[in-house]
Amino acid sequence: MINVCDIQVMKPMLAQHGFHFSKAKGQNFLISSWVPEQIALDSGVDENTGVLEIGPGIGPLTQQLCLRAGKVCAVEVDNRLKPILAQTVGEFENLEIIWDDVLKLDVPALVREKFPGLRPAACANLPYYITSPILTALLEAECFDQVTVMVQKEVAQRIAARPGTGDYSAFTVFCQYYAEPELLFDVPAHCFMPQPKVTSAVITLRVRKERPWNVEDQNIFFRTVRASFAMRRKKLSNGLASGFPQLGKDGAAEVIAACGFDENVRGETLGIPEFAKLSNEIARRLK
Ligand code: SAM
Repeated sequence: MINVCDIQVMKPMLAQHGFHFSKAKGQNFLISSWVPEQIALDSGVDENTGVLEIGPGIGPLTQQLCLRAGKVCAVEVDNRLKPILAQTVGEFENLEIIWDDVLKLDVPALVREKFPGLRPAACANLPYYITSPILTALLEAECFDQVTVMVQKEVAQRIAARPGTGDYSAFTVFCQYYAEPELLFDVPAHCFMPQPKVTSAVITLRVRKERPWNVEDQNIFFRTVRASFAMRRKKLSNGLASGFPQLGKDGAAEVIAACGFDENVRGETLGIPEFAKLSNEIARRLK
């Protein structure tokens, strides 16, 4: 197997194919082989798993996933990588590469078609410029058991944040509604070529089999969450009144009182059970 993380190997191979990194496609390739190995190990992938990889690049993580998984489907948007991937991962019979933009794919349909009888998982060193849309698509697809990704460290911290902390955001609640996150390890900038300006981190999201909060209307739940974070450090009633103009200021205050919360409560201190309570109360009033 070609060690694609070895820059003595990578550089001539890229040069041979006239390949130049595309900043616009978020191309920071791994040059430390312990990283893809550790990601694949921590992703829980085994021979019963079907893995969707996003952005194989020149294949360091793809190789490690192919060594462990029942099947790997890797989605890559950059056609220039075709001849390089043929060289680096062409030997794996359990690999299929889909040359497309992952955001244009019907992910649940793809998983149904490609991974029958396998436990579906997703694993990637994500292109940073579209981390949130990709994670959103993977979680909303509701078809993976586990999603393990490398992202900017600050994004990983945001995903795993607790209520009331500076990192806690609407995106935190979105991710934790679907999954239980666990921060795994940091990856310094020198592990990539070209080097990004930030530290990265690997995080795994174990998708919840059940959501114990009895959310009556998911759409209103996420609207409530967004409205609650829209005016940080302001009273929750302000955010709710602007997110739900039909309620008005008085209605928003009534919702908060009906849920048994303090009138001065701030949205960024609430957890998922409290957002569920609020959104169920709002849903009832909007009927
Ligand atoms: N997995 C490789 C590694 O770890 O060295 C490459 C990771 S690099 C951070 C991100 C990869 O995602 C690049 O290969 C890039 O071309 C690809 N990519 C960017 N946008 C994409 C999209 N919308 N759909 C699929 N792949 C994409």
